[in-house]
Amino acid sequence: MSNSIPPKKSLGQNFLTDESVCERIVDAADVGPQDSVLEIGPGHGVLTRRLAACAGHVTAIELDERLFGKLSRELAHHENLEIIQGDALKFPYEDLPGKVKVVANLPYYISTPIISRLIEARKKVSLMVLMLQKEVAERIAAPPGGKDYGYLSVMVQLYTEAESLFVVPAEAFDPVPKVDSAVARLIVRGAPVAYCRDFALFERVVSASFSQRRKTLKNSLKGSGLFTDEGVARLADSGIDPIRRAETLSVAEFAALTEFLFEFRKVA
Ligand code: SAM
Repeated sequence: MSNSIPPKKSLGQNFLTDESVCERIVDAADVGPQDSVLEIGPGHGVLTRRLAACAGHVTAIELDERLFGKLSRELAHHENLEIIQGDALKFPYEDLPGKVKVVANLPYYISTPIISRLIEARKKVSLMVLMLQKEVAERIAAPPGGKDYGYLSVMVQLYTEAESLFVVPAEAFDPVPKVDSAVARLIVRGAPVAYCRDFALFERVVSASFSQRRKTLKNSLKGSGLFTDEGVARLADSGIDPIRRAETLSVAEFAALTEFLFEFRKVA
């Protein structure tokens, strides 16, 4: 890449060089003058420039002070662009003044915790269009029944409608990464896909159920220590067959299971 800032591998710096991919990303978010956009990791600004040209407002958070300095100088003429130097994992998304669309080619070393933070702050997010490692995008969007479906799929799909849109080959970046990528779109739901009284317990149930994928639900939950023996023994009363494996349960079935087991929980 023709610039004087050597990329830092430790910050996941693989910069997009294919302009047609940038265009598809911005199109997938359907960005217009009415939108406030949040970009995580603007890097050299390949997406930032396009976003600033079509969005009402853009906030871009960059951790690397060298890139922050460069972007602040080069993009100073965009009055609708605010560049913040900081850590996207620590950014107070809940304090944003209104809803944003998140558009980002994420640093892959923290893509999952960033998605978790954005989902926590979902009241302030309408959608996310994210470049991710291909396997992560596939896991996020996976339907029940296959090897890609797991904890991440359930937690993301509880709160968002998730879709993997298109694959981006490693050669579209500089430096060329070791993995392929894919762009995923997550549309935040107005309400979780299913109700349960205790979403923290839901998370523990899903995590315990997938902790040993080959075990039956009954054995995974028994081993988790989350519920009384009576609760585990009465699992079938929930309407879900206890000999099923976690990967066969839909998000709504995990919620029903959690709701049933609520009365038998051992943990606070
Ligand atoms: N958006 C640019 C592009 O598409 O070419 C850069 C994408 S690069 C994969 C990821 C960017 O995230 C880098 O600019 C990196 O410095 C930045 N980054 C890494 N960790 C970060 C963090 N914790 N908070 C904010 N930005 C971070």
